[in-house]
Amino acid sequence: MSEEEKSLNFLEEIIEADLAAGRYKSILTRFPPEPNGYLHIGHSKSICLNFGLAAKYGGSTNLRFDDTNPVTEDTEYVESIKDDIRWLGFSWAEEKYASDYFETLYQYAHTLINKGLAYVDDSSAEEIASLKGSPSEAGKNSPFRNRSVEENSQLFSAMKEGKYKDGEKVLRAKIDMLAPNMLMRDPIIYRIKHAHHHRTGNDWCIYPMYDFAHGQSDSIENITHSICTLEFIPHRELYNWFIEQLNIFPSHQYEFARLNMTYTVMSKRKLLQLVNEGHVNGWDDPRMPTISGLRRKGYTPASIRNFCERIGIARRENLIDLSLLEFCLREDLNETAFRVMAVLDPVKLIISNYPDDQTETLISENGPDEKMGSRNLQFSNELWIEREDFMEEPAKKWFRLAPGAMVRLKSAYIVRCDGFTKDDSGAISEINCTYIPESRSGQDTSGIQVKGTIHWVSAKHAAKAEVRLYDRLFRVEDPASEEGDFKAYINSDSLQIIPEAMIETSLLDAKPEQRFQFIRKGYFCLDKDSQPGKPVFNRTVTLKDAWTKEVKKSN
Ligand code: ATP
Ligand code: MG
Repeated sequence: MSEEEKSLNFLEEIIEADLAAGRYKSILTRFPPEPNGYLHIGHSKSICLNFGLAAKYGGSTNLRFDDTNPVTEDTEYVESIKDDIRWLGFSWAEEKYASDYFETLYQYAHTLINKGLAYVDDSSAEEIASLKGSPSEAGKNSPFRNRSVEENSQLFSAMKEGKYKDGEKVLRAKIDMLAPNMLMRDPIIYRIKHAHHHRTGNDWCIYPMYDFAHGQSDSIENITHSICTLEFIPHRELYNWFIEQLNIFPSHQYEFARLNMTYTVMSKRKLLQLVNEGHVNGWDDPRMPTISGLRRKGYTPASIRNFCERIGIARRENLIDLSLLEFCLREDLNETAFRVMAVLDPVKLIISNYPDDQTETLISENGPDEKMGSRNLQFSNELWIEREDFMEEPAKKWFRLAPGAMVRLKSAYIVRCDGFTKDDSGAISEINCTYIPESRSGQDTSGIQVKGTIHWVSAKHAAKAEVRLYDRLFRVEDPASEEGDFKAYINSDSLQIIPEAMIETSLLDAKPEQRFQFIRKGYFCLDKDSQPGKPVFNRTVTLKDAWTKEVKKSN
């Protein structure tokens, strides 16, 4: 579908109306991560949306770190977030930090105090909560609500000067303790926290709350469309109230549904638990739904962008099938990944009529597209093939190897199985074949038709690799909504390690994150744990979806 033919989503409609009415010359969006963890696939939805909308309408996007909580934030996270956004293919106009605005926000708070719209409250957290009321019960005014402007101003300055301990005082907006929206019942806008901040160090011991930082930061940057997820709907009233009272640039907040996906969890807090408690090997473990995990697993930026495009934006929460993400990945890799041969569960195949001292160089295409070129493959009388490609007593419609049966070796010859040997444990240890010399791929004059083609590597030339096969991290579709601890639903078989797979030697030149199709086995990419001569490959995704038969297209 061309861009014009697609119906506009609700945000595009809003932006087009705003531009048509001349409300803005150009649009400016922002992506506002809190640097308290690595980005996950849910964030990529927000990234694609913010950057995508700005790009579509000739605007731009700021990257703003929402770093108002000194305790959980770290520069490691800042760097990983920037890497991930770049990797996804986006560039931001300006890199900003909510902490850049601490001084301005502090002045804004004084503005509210001077207008009689904020007061210092000495009540404890419990007292404040108990006077807050409930949605069905009116709140009550704090005994400190009627302090004079002078007193509030002096106390708030003293809070900043460090005269009080954590929790001793807070600054609250003076709005309405009867408001139906609980967030409007004199929300806390500053709290005392004697903590080191990753950027401002020990300069501050008071920190603004989310609601007193986010909208104002948007406004300071002249953000036109501030897009966030649905849980912020109740915050919009407060967002607008601050902007109005402070009389600053009128940014507007719009909400869309979070992306939730099956067989994983999507909150940094939960992901942090998986990392800290050793359920996975770090934030970039390929089983994680983090961008860095997906990237290490072999995902391409295009497949993730495409996925985000395909799911569209919704105004109601829903659970997206992980299969759809994998579908987008296969679609991309099918076109771009080089085809190579690797044998994951090797058994020896000996060709009795092929000279023991002979080696032959065959040419194999790198992929369906001619532009992908071709490479050399070494062939000899000793090969590794996949154990599962041989059946001692073949089932019906078995087109692979079996005693007396013929099969084509990919890019090489047709072979016929003459016999096999077993070891003491009864496992097949060697398969004996003869090859048909006239059947060489591309020059086949044998006239023999075979139904099956199998992959192989020359045992005399093969290299070894560790191969890691990943499965879903959780056994249930929506672990976060199950009873009890979500970690009880972890799939204990989510990682299978093959210590010694046999790979064609061309794979020794693989580059990190270069993706391959191991013919018939799936898509794989080189892992960063690789050492020279000791490659490690991750399975990115299987060739077919073994979990869901039908790919559910969401629209
Ligand atoms: P988490 O609960 O995972 O910590 P968050 O919303 O607290 O998520 P932020 O760093 O505050 O994480 O998010 C940055 C931006 O990404 C916000 O605008 C947020 O709304 C958006 N975002 C976060 N998670 C999702 C998601 N699952 N789907 C879509 N957007 C998301
Ligand atoms: Mg958050």
